[in-house]
Amino acid sequence: MINNYLTKISLKKIVLLRNKERSLQRFHPWVFSGAVYKKDPTLKDGDIVEVYDSENRYLATGHYNNNSICVRIFSFEQVAPDYLFWRRKFENAIQYRKTLGLIWNPETNIFRLINGEGDLFPGLIVDWFNGNVVIQFHSAGMCLLQETIIQILLELFPGQIRSIYNKSASTLLDQANCTPQEGLLYGTLEDVLVHENGIPFYVDIENGQKTGFFIDQRDNRQLVCDFSRNKKVLNLFCYTGGFSLYALDGGAELVHSVDISKRAIEWTERNISLSVHQSVHQSYAENVFDFLEQMEDHYYDLIILDPPAFAKHHKAKEQGIKGYRNINRKAMEKLKPGGFLFTFSCSQAISKDEFQTIVFSAAALENKAVRVVKQLHQSLDHPVNIFHPEGEYLKGLMLEVNN
Ligand code: SAH
Repeated sequence: MINNYLTKISLKKIVLLRNKERSLQRFHPWVFSGAVYKKDPTLKDGDIVEVYDSENRYLATGHYNNNSICVRIFSFEQVAPDYLFWRRKFENAIQYRKTLGLIWNPETNIFRLINGEGDLFPGLIVDWFNGNVVIQFHSAGMCLLQETIIQILLELFPGQIRSIYNKSASTLLDQANCTPQEGLLYGTLEDVLVHENGIPFYVDIENGQKTGFFIDQRDNRQLVCDFSRNKKVLNLFCYTGGFSLYALDGGAELVHSVDISKRAIEWTERNISLSVHQSVHQSYAENVFDFLEQMEDHYYDLIILDPPAFAKHHKAKEQGIKGYRNINRKAMEKLKPGGFLFTFSCSQAISKDEFQTIVFSAAALENKAVRVVKQLHQSLDHPVNIFHPEGEYLKGLMLEVNN
């Protein structure tokens, strides 16, 4: 299996235009196609390639793809990217999660093991759900490493892996010059029960969104838990009820969860049934925009607003900004004066500062006195490479909203 992979490695070469080496010298892990002076004519998607400056000096090694981000860098040192190289990268990622107290922690047995560029592993996401591993390949090069990755995981977690599941976008799989299997790659997948900060959840890996559960909100959910005592809590865009279960655990007087997807509401109900406080919970399969319009004024003390990405790419940015502004305005209008709003954006195209400006204008338009209680981010197992600020996709604000 490994030898098979090694024979596929061919270190081809890309040379950059003069002065286009700067971002790589600052360790940004992407090469854009416009920076390329010449490339090996045999290069194909998924190939490993070495990048050189115009003076033929080595800069970095990465995976090639024939699109606007044409190389995703995984090493700034000249290496032979063999089995041991990838294994060492996994070991580093595991060590970091150990340092965070996330490995073999019975209270939290769900975490992100590999976070793409944040682990200098561009094109790869690996989540751990209590012994069930979910992989997403976002580049042809990582896709080609599928067998290697499975082997490394089984070696580094001996006897601890129940299943390995590939949840990658199928369009990507089509362009890769390998034939990766989508779906179950190893073991058997049964109902997956996990714990996050001691709170139990079912995760539907096969049918759920992304890898099945939004692990990036762990720390923010804990914050909601800490501020929910005796509060009336509204969880908008609830998905499987993550924030709702924490609010119940934190002693909320009542919790209402809203999602447009009936399936998401079924998942929420199933998770709520695991809570001893289920009697004070109610869910609504409704469009959040309608729900906000129709709901009573100043009823809820705490609102969570965690919508899907309104701006999935730069072209949709203006529309996305309007969407965030409108929904934040509505939530501020309806929240009880003195209440807390936890508001998020997971749009990569909208920066932290832009998001804060959007929320600022929502507050100004609603004529509300708003204070930032806390800036919120993705949880610690989703580290951001400082040279790749685009990796900070989840931004949020905990706000106190007054008249
Ligand atoms: N807060 C969640 C994740 C939210 S994902 C968590 O912590 O797990 C976004 C959710 O928004 C999805 O479940 C999707 O079904 C829902 N959604 C998208 N558009 C919606 C709309 N207009 N009204 C209500 N829910 C919507």
